[in-house]
Amino acid sequence: MVWHNVEIEDIFAHLSTDKKGLSESEAEKRLVIYGLNEIVEKKKRTVFQMFLDQFKDLMIVILLLASVVSGILGELGDTIAIIVIVILNAIIGFIQEFRAEKAIEALKKMTSTRTVVIRDGEPKTIETRYLVPGDIVHIEAGNIIPADMRIIEAHQLKIEEAALTGESVPVDKTEKTLREKDLAIGDRRNIAHKGTLVTYGRGIGIITETGMETELGKIASMIQEQGEVKTPLQKRLAQFGKKLSLAVIAICLIVFVFGLLRGENPIVILLTAISLAVAAIPEALPAVVTISLALGAKKMVKQNALIRKLPAVETLGSVTYICSDKTGTLTLNKMKVEEVYSKGQILKEFNNQNIEDLLIKACAISNDAKRSPDGSVIGDPTEVALYNFAFQLGAEKEHLEKLYKRIFEIPFDSDRKCMTTIHSWDDRYISITKGAIEVLVEKAEKVMIDGQIKPLDKEELNRVANRMAKDGLRVIGYGVRFFDTLPDDKGSENIEHSLTIIGLVGLMDPPRDEVIEAVRVCKEAGIIPVMITGDHPLTAYNIAKKIGIIDEYDEKSVITGRELEKLDMNEFERRVLDIRVYARVAPEQKLKIVKALQDKGQFVAMTGDGVNDAPALKRADIGIAMGITGTDVSKEASHMILLDDNFATIVKAIKEGRRIFDNIRKFIKYTMTSNSGEIWTIFLAPFLGLPIPLLPIHILWINLVTDGLPGLALAYEKSEREIMKRPPRHPKESIFAQGLSYHIIWVGLLMGAVSLFSQAWAIKTGHSHWQTMIFTVLCLSQMGHVLAIRSEKDSLFTIGIFSNIPLILAVMSTFVLQLATIYVPVLNRVFKTEPLTAEELIFCLALSSVVFIAVEIEKLIKRRVNLVK
Ligand code: ADP
Ligand code: MG
Repeated sequence: MVWHNVEIEDIFAHLSTDKKGLSESEAEKRLVIYGLNEIVEKKKRTVFQMFLDQFKDLMIVILLLASVVSGILGELGDTIAIIVIVILNAIIGFIQEFRAEKAIEALKKMTSTRTVVIRDGEPKTIETRYLVPGDIVHIEAGNIIPADMRIIEAHQLKIEEAALTGESVPVDKTEKTLREKDLAIGDRRNIAHKGTLVTYGRGIGIITETGMETELGKIASMIQEQGEVKTPLQKRLAQFGKKLSLAVIAICLIVFVFGLLRGENPIVILLTAISLAVAAIPEALPAVVTISLALGAKKMVKQNALIRKLPAVETLGSVTYICSDKTGTLTLNKMKVEEVYSKGQILKEFNNQNIEDLLIKACAISNDAKRSPDGSVIGDPTEVALYNFAFQLGAEKEHLEKLYKRIFEIPFDSDRKCMTTIHSWDDRYISITKGAIEVLVEKAEKVMIDGQIKPLDKEELNRVANRMAKDGLRVIGYGVRFFDTLPDDKGSENIEHSLTIIGLVGLMDPPRDEVIEAVRVCKEAGIIPVMITGDHPLTAYNIAKKIGIIDEYDEKSVITGRELEKLDMNEFERRVLDIRVYARVAPEQKLKIVKALQDKGQFVAMTGDGVNDAPALKRADIGIAMGITGTDVSKEASHMILLDDNFATIVKAIKEGRRIFDNIRKFIKYTMTSNSGEIWTIFLAPFLGLPIPLLPIHILWINLVTDGLPGLALAYEKSEREIMKRPPRHPKESIFAQGLSYHIIWVGLLMGAVSLFSQAWAIKTGHSHWQTMIFTVLCLSQMGHVLAIRSEKDSLFTIGIFSNIPLILAVMSTFVLQLATIYVPVLNRVFKTEPLTAEELIFCLALSSVVFIAVEIEKLIKRRVNLVK
């Protein structure tokens, strides 16, 4: 079917549907035939492939080969034990990756879009993927077109089709049937294509194709996102990992050569060196980062922050500026009319007598709010407030609408900051323009007082408006024009001028209570909250002061969109760090704000909900869309969605981001220190004249039980006490900054020293169990270490031993498993260990706690030094 050539009636017939839409049961049947309205993704890895991938690591392959060779030459039992451990390791790696992937999938599902469709004659919101051909769909500015559709009704509908045509200028759409046959996608002006953006107006369409049958689906393979994106941290870790691997391999070579020179069994020393390499190369780091981020994202959803892009979890902790919309994010978005200016005076109490009759009617009919069947009024909160205000004064929109039919409308947009409706008015016509007071004053010439039209004193009106705005009110002006005949050109320039002001209405939108506390936390955490609004500077200032964003109104900290317009980038950047309130800005200006802050080295979170906010959201370091009021377009451009539209949620998410990053850092601290300890032990032994301390299987075992469980449990660590009292982490700061590399070296060295001490002492004093002893000390020292680094600064006893249950369970099971290798006879044979005497065991336990004590003392010193500072 060439849909653009076909008359609407014929399309209805062809798709057996009509304006009332499909029935639910018919839609269900069609869903079975046509399938989900989804772009099918490339084939994913199967579970088995994911498991096999665990063996892709070169060192693992070498280890397996070497152990097979050693098995052929010598003891088969060792080979089997090594293979079992390698498989166990792969299983853990596989479970980790599997969980991460599941968590990411779950996030994807939550971000799926919804569409308003007519089913059984009623509008319903359904998930976009359940659309079928024949569905009747409502679209409006901010929507992403859910599937290919023929437009059957268009009201100033403009669609941006860059996703398909590369053309970013929006196209005017129409419901008219086109005559031309072969039209390029960009010229099919009565078709809306899946994936394109409605930038203006509204319309109705009938779905013609869904899913892979759409134009977007046909080119889907070209636009598929390439694999998963790596986060900045993962990229850096991967790079670092490569360098580290080289270093580890060099050390293992030295160990190998030294062993040969000392006349050790070549196969044994080779296996030892390779096992050490396998244990010490932290190949699991990137996977652990993914898991931590994904787990974090899962937790954040419960706090109403929905992460769309995983790297955002990691970077949240670096935010230095939060640029937030005012209406709905800092305030409740529950507007109420508090003051009215009519008949020459400001009124706080109103009735039909003291208010201009025309103003009340205008509030009712120039209004897009609607009464829903259940009695509530739905629509934009500003409109709802005006609807209710008129209703209380006896003007019911639904009734008046019949008398004064709406003939035309120029919709509200945040750039013009006003809207106009044209109605029939007895035998004439009236246009009603309402909007921001400065805009109205400019377009007005006269004023109506008691039904009389008089010349307008603009200064006086501005004074009145400022008085109202100072109380924190959003001031909406109303102006009218009468026409005997309607002009042909109904563009905004031609209609919205020569107005007669009929009154002003002041609306209150109270700040959210919890925002005051959130702003305080921000400031303590070195994050600067900034308000961006389309409202009047005085209104904005009043609210900003109430919630603590600003103290005094001065030229440095409050700026209007018009002033911003005049500043070039250099001048603006000189001022940008001081500005706390941006008033009367157009959404496009947000991009300039983000850029200026970023040029000044700031890390910016920016909120937005409209179509025009999308570029700024994309550009921001963390683009935040509104879950309730946000458009599809803004959500699509964002990194994170606030499910409750609440500023306080951003601050919670930042705290969570900081916690997650801390924990990743703790994990790195833990594993790298363990690895360092293992390397020191094996590397230093010959220099101290000691025999090779551990067998390959011991090294592999320690790597398995210590990295596997306790390391992962660190992701469950609660946030540090002072997490929101320290400045943001610089995004480019090395993960090893703040003494991490130093810690890895000295604690590793201590771990090695303690282990080697146990070996030397045992040999010296004639304990034949020396190998079992060093094996135990090295393993259990790491358990002590993990307990000590649970907090950066606080002692384990302050944060509570049981405040991280998964970790305690992990440490206990590792402990039990280690004892099993010592005391279970079968395992004695596998691990070549011997049961320790009570005295030996106590000696080992005492030595193992040295690392714990040392790190606790280090933290104690840190706390003391901090106190002094
Ligand atoms: P914000 O993002 O702060 O809500 P908007 O861009 O929505 O700002 O609104 C900017 C200004 O436009 C408001 O201060 C108000 O004067 C005016 N305005 C807002 N909503 C409407 C509306 N529905 N009709 C007319 N004017 C409006
Ligand atoms: Mg708004």
